[in-house]
Amino acid sequence: MSRKELTILLAEPRGFCAGVDRAIEIVERALEKYGAPVYVRHEIVHNRYVVEALENKGAVFVEELDDVPLSAPVIFSAHGVPKRVPQEAERRNLTYVDATCPLVSKVHREVERHYSKGRKIILIGHAGHPEVEGSIGQLPHGAIRLIETPEEARALDFPGEGENIAYVTQTTLSVDDTTDVIDALRDRYPRIHGPKQEDICYATTNRQQAVKAIAGHADLILVVGAPNSSNSMRLVEVARRAGCPQSMLVQRASDIDWSLLEQVSTVGVTAGASAPEILVEEVIDALKARFDVHLESRRVTTENVHFKLPRDLAGPRVA
Ligand code: SF4
Repeated sequence: MSRKELTILLAEPRGFCAGVDRAIEIVERALEKYGAPVYVRHEIVHNRYVVEALENKGAVFVEELDDVPLSAPVIFSAHGVPKRVPQEAERRNLTYVDATCPLVSKVHREVERHYSKGRKIILIGHAGHPEVEGSIGQLPHGAIRLIETPEEARALDFPGEGENIAYVTQTTLSVDDTTDVIDALRDRYPRIHGPKQEDICYATTNRQQAVKAIAGHADLILVVGAPNSSNSMRLVEVARRAGCPQSMLVQRASDIDWSLLEQVSTVGVTAGASAPEILVEEVIDALKARFDVHLESRRVTTENVHFKLPRDLAGPRVA
């Protein structure tokens, strides 16, 4: 019996970004340099598959420095950490490596610069996300006001036209939603200071553009990623709004609800910045096992970004 035909539109770029590549390589190189176990504060990137693969090589994931023995090296995750964390590591004489993505570090430097100029600082981001906690933790308690929506921007009670106010953003937000919040801020405070170039990173922006490009042509979109991955969740929202209401997150092929594919002839596939390509391949293989698949790649741009490793871990690999 012939199988049903299915077109897969594969969004490009998708999956790992330069910050995630770097963070994973930092853990691998630290394991090579120091030997197991190497401790990692928080999930190095938000993906269970990546975390378990590193655990199998000898990484131990903990939530706080208190869980790290004095003799062991510790790595800080790609999302960045509040200033108190490296300070505490130094106080305890721990060997640590900071895997904070350089694009998150750039936001940390921006908030410090605004603070040194005496500005009130507004951070657009999602409460509770580790990147937001890391950015807020660059400055003394209360120096940064977190907002998420245009309504919250309009309700701000700082006096004046914004000459003494600045905003920064989380790197992994929806580009369109953030534009709405920034517009509301600029309406309220015409002279507010902001970044010269977006804080939303290139990888988040490109993955959102790529999913938009397929959304109008797909009956269903599968976003490979984790529920705690901000940029993956934003891809689902962006895809829904860009014309594919049936867009959903899957962590693995085993999450696919096959009943949804019965009436579908075109499926879009993409992946968040912390989802490895092997999981995208797993999803495609699962589709190929059930359908007569025609695969089309839809690229909106080519990425060529690479971040340097910390000096201590650079150089040729041991293994
Ligand atoms: Fe860096 Fe962007 Fe990747 Fe986050 S998503 S690690 S900010 S490049």
